[in-house]
Order: sequence, then structure tokens, then C-alpha cells
Amino acid sequence: MDQGGYLNKIFRTIEKYRLVEKGDKIFVALSGGKDSAAVLFALKKFNEERDPDFEIVGFHINLGTIGSEKIQEIVEKQCELAGVKLVVFELKKEGIDLGEIAKKNRRPICGVCGVIKRYLMNKIPRELGATKIATGHHGDDILVFFIKNILGMNYSWIGKFRPKAESDNPKLLTKIRPLFFVGRKENEEFVKNLGVPYVQESLCIYFKEKIKLYEKTNKWYDIIDRLESEAPGFKERLLNSVIKMSTYFESEDQLKFCKICGEPTNTEICAFCRLTGKTKNSKL
Ligand SMILES: [Zn+2]
Repeated sequence: MDQGGYLNKIFRTIEKYRLVEKGDKIFVALSGGKDSAAVLFALKKFNEERDPDFEIVGFHINLGTIGSEKIQEIVEKQCELAGVKLVVFELKKEGIDLGEIAKKNRRPICGVCGVIKRYLMNKIPRELGATKIATGHHGDDILVFFIKNILGMNYSWIGKFRPKAESDNPKLLTKIRPLFFVGRKENEEFVKNLGVPYVQESLCIYFKEKIKLYEKTNKWYDIIDRLESEAPGFKERLLNSVIKMSTYFESEDQLKFCKICGEPTNTEICAFCRLTGKTKNSKL
């Protein structure tokens, strides 16, 4: 797809689902990978071309593992090229050691990493005045996740499958997914054409732990690609259907606030505090 067509799809998504408003301060969660870089540059182009006048800030969590410095350098370069400010949160500096936490809780490190990232991705930008957080989730991600959940008879997530996930909880930032209707290959082509550097997912030193999952996901990616080539428009139609379906599954989670840190949670004490063994007097 040409770059114009790609951006048009994203701009249409932003406008139709009102992902941005004048005066927004949008933090883009940057992992160093192609998808989050694509969101950053697509939002920047939207801001320049459609002039809705909002602020874009890059946000990166340095995981403090081998390779993290290299990843941070690439994220810094991405933000420099985009001309946006970057906020980096360094786990090590804040006394959070992923390996140690995983060992202590006897949990796989990828799961621990996910909990910690989700928590900080909401808390830190909100404290810095963010109105929304933008992520690199794209159409292929959504479809594969959707199919897996349907096959597993797990319907509780369907209510969240939409380009804009708003929340009733004032402490939970609205998440926007401008790449909802584009795929991973188009993202890669877009950032490559712009000459933006990015890292491969396999750079994570714990990649071996999730290689099986990664291979399975890739198989599903191939399947939906094949369906798309057999029946052009398949992806877009199914994605539209998923959005419609999500309205029938409005998530009813009664969001509470963690008794220790005060952050949004579904349980008495949030997953972050449980994992890190945080107490009321801790710093973070
Ligand atoms: Zn907590």
C-alpha cells in the first residue's frame, strides 16, 4: 500500500473514533519497535496536516535488562526525528529489578514485565499531565487476539476491542489505538520509508521464553493474511464487526483503587504492589 493510503486509513480512524481532541496531551508508549514508531509518526503527521493542535510526548520504559541501553538509544533517535519530547522511566533507577521480582514470585519474567509496564504506562504519564496514551496495537494484533479469545471461549476482553478504550475511572487514562485498521507489514513499510530506526522484537533477552508463543502468533498472522488475499477486505470487515460486537460486551469491571498505592485495580491490592511487595511507605 502506498504511504498516502496507509496514512489515510489511520487519519480516518482518528477522526471517526475521535481519538484526539484539541488540547490533548498524548503520550505514545514507545518500545523501540516498528509499530510504536509508526504511531508516533502517524500522529505527528496528523497533527501537522489536519491541525487539531495537540501535544505528543514519547514515553519509554527502560527495563534495565541486557540490551536496554541500545533500545533506549533507538527510542531517543525516533523522538529526535519526530521532534517530540521523550520521557524515559528507568526501572533500575527506581529500584525495580524484573529478574528478582520474577524469581521471588516464581513467575515467568514476561508476565511480570507485562504487569509492571501496564501499571507504569498509566501512572507515570497521568502524573505528568497526559490526557491519553497511544499504543502500537494494530489490526493484525487485534484480529489474532480476538480469534484466540473466541476459540478459548473467553469473552471478557471483547468489550475492550475498539480504537478508543475509555474508562469511567478518573485515574485510568483513555487508551487510543490509531493503527486499529492497518497491519504490521504496512507499519514496517511506513517507518522504513521514513528512514526511522527501530529494534526487532527478538532483541529482548528473554525472547527465548516466549518463542513458542511468538511462533504460534506468527502462524495466525499468516492465516489471516491468507484469508485477506483470498477474500480482499476480510480484515477490515472483521475489525468493523469486532468493534460492533464490543458494544455488546461493555466491560463491567468495577474499578476500585489499590489499598496500598491508590492506583486503579479490580482487586483490593493491585498486581503491581503484590508483585513488588510494595508497602504504604515505599517510594514509588
Ligand atoms: Zn497498588
